[in-house]
Amino acid sequence: MAIKIAEKWFERKKINDRLTLLWEPHVDPLIRCNIWHIRGRDADLLVDSGMGICSLKQAASDLFERSITAVATHTHHDHVGSLHEFSVRVVHRLEAPSMCSGAHKLPLLTADYPDDMKKALADVGCPLPEHSLLIAYPEKGFNPANVTLQGIEPTRLVDEGDRIDLGDLNFEVLHLPGHSPGSIALWEEKTGWFFSGDAIYDGPLLDNISGACVEDYLVTMERLLKLPVQSVYPGHDEIFGRSRHIEIARHYIQSKSL
Ligand SMILES: [Zn+2]
Repeated sequence: MAIKIAEKWFERKKINDRLTLLWEPHVDPLIRCNIWHIRGRDADLLVDSGMGICSLKQAASDLFERSITAVATHTHHDHVGSLHEFSVRVVHRLEAPSMCSGAHKLPLLTADYPDDMKKALADVGCPLPEHSLLIAYPEKGFNPANVTLQGIEPTRLVDEGDRIDLGDLNFEVLHLPGHSPGSIALWEEKTGWFFSGDAIYDGPLLDNISGACVEDYLVTMERLLKLPVQSVYPGHDEIFGRSRHIEIARHYIQSKSL
């Protein structure tokens, strides 16, 4: 069956005056990352950048007129695809080597994934689709076997406690390993906003893939239980509030102590 051609690649939703969510509806939900654009008083912030199949900067050019800092919560391919389009690129120091490890093939076909990864995903209840991770193609003649993820040097390495200041919003970097060694999240104390990347989201959490670590994840979840979040803006799936945040963290901790 011929795969359809998408009319547009990115969707967006304005969450509030400051915050816009972008996503790629034609990417399989398993690797469909939330891309967050935050408008500050003096500068803007981008949290994650999707697959890099189409230009994010061109598709949402109105959002990128001002000075912007692009943060990668971690360097899995579904979060860093368009990072190379931005001149200020922030990542945790532990993930810098994988970010600038050169261009490589973007895995868009199920056959591109190693067997241990396929098993890890099936084991947490989210098996890869039968053939392709794309629901539609961006254009005629598109070949999913031939897409490149561009490696790029970060311009700023961050660690626990570092800050990204937008003038009126001030984000603290939290180092939250478990899903990956250098997973970070951004915490804004005044608003209670928490951009969590893949440290916590409302879906099957991946702690059995290469680079993941259950012991670290447990420490991360204990930390998250104490964080007074108001709104969690995660790397995947829906936005949630404080009570769901606590529920997810508790459930993870309990599931590992059985
Ligand atoms: Zn990830």
